Amino acid sequence: MNVGVVGGGLAGLATASALHAAGHSVTVYEAAAHIGGRMGTVTMEGHPVDVGFHVLHTAYPALRRWVDLDALDAVAMDPSTEVILPSQGKRLLLGDALRRPSTLFPTLRSVGPFNALRLLRWRQRARGRDIEAPLDRPSQSIDAGLANQGFSKALRQRVLQPLFAGITLDPERNEREAFATFTWGAMAKGNMVMPKDGIVAVPRQLASHLLPASLRTGVAVEAVDANGVTVDGTRHEHDKVVLAVPQHVAAQLLDITIDPSERRTTTMVYATDAAPLRAARLLLNGEYDPTASPVLHVHVPTLLHPRADGQHLVVATLLGESDHTAEDVQERLLSWFSEASTWRFVGRTDVRHALPTIPTHHVGRDHLPVDVDGVLLAGDHTTHPSVQGTLRSAERVLEALGVPLPQGPQDLQRPAAVEVTA
Ligand SMILES: Cc1cc2nc3c(=O)[nH]c(=O)nc-3n(C[C@H](O)[C@H](O)[C@H](O)COP(=O)(O)OP(=O)(O)OC[C@H]3O[C@@H](n4cnc5c(N)ncnc54)[C@H](O)[C@@H]3O)c2cc1C
Repeated sequence: MNVGVVGGGLAGLATASALHAAGHSVTVYEAAAHIGGRMGTVTMEGHPVDVGFHVLHTAYPALRRWVDLDALDAVAMDPSTEVILPSQGKRLLLGDALRRPSTLFPTLRSVGPFNALRLLRWRQRARGRDIEAPLDRPSQSIDAGLANQGFSKALRQRVLQPLFAGITLDPERNEREAFATFTWGAMAKGNMVMPKDGIVAVPRQLASHLLPASLRTGVAVEAVDANGVTVDGTRHEHDKVVLAVPQHVAAQLLDITIDPSERRTTTMVYATDAAPLRAARLLLNGEYDPTASPVLHVHVPTLLHPRADGQHLVVATLLGESDHTAEDVQERLLSWFSEASTWRFVGRTDVRHALPTIPTHHVGRDHLPVDVDGVLLAGDHTTHPSVQGTLRSAERVLEALGVPLPQGPQDLQRPAAVEVTA
């Protein structure tokens, strides 16, 4: 079979690598100059910096089928989260006491015994055998669901709302509570890890299974149909076509109407001699407000993967359309860290169309049918907005084509041709 895959992000590369391993001919058309899509990493002062805060959840079942984490030198973040109340100069610790018993008392002090019990109950419910199962049931919005679970207003405003604004990259949290439960389950069951060379190492690992000639970068597809893709007015024939582009591009190519709102995120990156945090964990803004207090969280990736020169990078994350300058953000961070004025700005990253919109009333781990007029659909907007959802979207396409799913990354190595000797 000769398959054209449109989009060289995680979904397209996973689909292409399994097709290639199964002996099919595959061509990946990628509009950008490089592969990876929204799993992007740039280099700042010789060190990899992710385009937007990005982690891999080791509890995602699909991840183990597709990605060799050991080969990525992936290191786990500290499972606790710290919350800062900048106006009071106060910090709260939220730990997973079942994994780090030493965080039990600080966590109880931070959230109180009733919230702690409710968090524990949610944790037990979310970490079932199938962490995507909550997505198959009707759900409220994140905020309504958290209120319904009985969490106090203070815990919701200071901790849960900023946390899930960060996970959904949406200050309004217009996402299903079921999705929050899915990510809560992933956090409870496994670790959040970061590859040494940045998050782009994941799509690069998948691409390494392909023949270099099958990857065509800098090629924007203008139209698709069941058996062809059109580039620069020329139609290229394929037995099957897989469309693995982001939601807004798929909507355009397939003439589908979608919610026009767009999720965006920006990071500002500063260099400093001394790390302002002691552990590689998130420092979340408990007073987050897109206008009045727009820095959502800060982390120090060099605590996980040190820079060769011993310097540290401080990454501040913002959401939405950001017209804040690096100086403005640095000044705001003075109420978080008194030494912030000594930091040196080294760069910023911006992501447009960061995550798809799945309506709150949608029920199911899959969002769109896998086949629309003969074109096979992959990508996070066809399932749910996560690495798990994206890899699962590739698996749906492979199932539709009758191609075996990898049971581990070793299955993506194409067997060498058998030499026949006389
Ligand atoms: C900042 C950020 C942080 C995230 N953090 C997490 C996280 O911590 N955990 C988690 O599970 N998930 C996270 N995600 C979600 C996850 O990264 C995405 O769900 C996943 O990368 C989507 O992959 P995809 O292949 O569906 O789409 P993409 O990565 O967008 O790939 C689609 C590709 O199609 C290409 N393309 C577009 N138009 C055309 C065209 N006309 N012709 C050819 N090619 C085209 C694009 O250039 C792109 O390379 C995060 C996402 C972002 C943006």
